[in-house]
Amino acid sequence: MNNDQKIWNYLKDKGLNDYACAGIEGNLFWESGNKPNNLENFYNRKFNMTDEEYTAKVDSGEYTNFVRDSAGFGIAQWTYWSRKQGLLDLVKSRGVSIADLASQLDYLWIELSRNGTLINALMSAKSVYEATIIFMVVFENPADQSDKAKQARVDIAQQYYDAYAGDKPMDKYIEVANGVEHYSKAKQGDLIFTIDGKPSNFKVKEFACHDGTDEILIDGRLVRYLQRERDLYGVTTINSAYRTPAYNAKVGGAPKSQHLYGKASDTVCKNGSPLEVAMTAEAMGMGGIGLYPTFTHIDTRDGKSRWDNRSGKQVGVSTFFKTIQYGATGEYVKIAQRKLGVEVDGVFLDKTKEAVLKFQGLHNLKQDAIIGVRTWTELMK
Ligand SMILES: [Zn+2]
Repeated sequence: MNNDQKIWNYLKDKGLNDYACAGIEGNLFWESGNKPNNLENFYNRKFNMTDEEYTAKVDSGEYTNFVRDSAGFGIAQWTYWSRKQGLLDLVKSRGVSIADLASQLDYLWIELSRNGTLINALMSAKSVYEATIIFMVVFENPADQSDKAKQARVDIAQQYYDAYAGDKPMDKYIEVANGVEHYSKAKQGDLIFTIDGKPSNFKVKEFACHDGTDEILIDGRLVRYLQRERDLYGVTTINSAYRTPAYNAKVGGAPKSQHLYGKASDTVCKNGSPLEVAMTAEAMGMGGIGLYPTFTHIDTRDGKSRWDNRSGKQVGVSTFFKTIQYGATGEYVKIAQRKLGVEVDGVFLDKTKEAVLKFQGLHNLKQDAIIGVRTWTELMK
């Protein structure tokens, strides 16, 4: 059995689930290539020793500075002196090499077990991505925590997952497409969309036509957008997304409705009014936006279309941004005040003006205390 499989089995035997195992092993591989005798490359050069030579000299006692030399070593690239001391003590007590894989795994587990919060977080991770990032940030805490560095670890973790995971719970997820994709409600309805690997709050079946049709058309760009509304405004309900032509006709939809193409959603957000949701869609440059008394229609068409149906009659509008400034009152002022974090009284006076000037300064906008298109865009997106 190779080290990859040994490490996976060890972690599984400790009761970790597949996501946690993959997340840990992806990080270990990134740190050390899963080689227990791995000495941090910089120190191979500095000490002019290969991994084998360093290990042999630590084992024989010829090299005495193992604990304090600041060199990363072993599968987890232990570096800090007290952690290296602990590893050294363990292998000495067992009479084995400092590069003994079983002992390094036991030592890793001792460290992990001390951090119940970390174990719990790993065990409740909902994806390989989540588990990998949790282990990276909390346990390894490397200097480079860029998105690129994260993705590199996640990619490796995913390979371990694909190779070793048992009951394949990854089958719970499906990555959003770049455009419109066809899905089967029966076969894929319960899958949760992921966006760049991160689980979203939406399942495939939430986009299904309400007439029971199995086929569902969904534009991945719509899912990405809806997740942004979800992040801003809480629980997001899709009243209606994909519609078959027959169903669309039955509910009185427009003959060329974007719902027919899987590009539209009539959306209700728990903590955002239909106007706020429309304004965020505006800030994100969505194609079609329709404002209704209790929901917001959003679609991903090419080109722009805006309409206001709050009166029950469809009125074309050019934008859902209304320019407001000192002295203004009403709903738009309240929305701005909520976003600015000032008292929401619907009256644009001194405190609101101060907050707008500050916000404009922070976002490199012209500091004129007028909330127009640019300031709205920054406030709402
Ligand atoms: Zn609609």
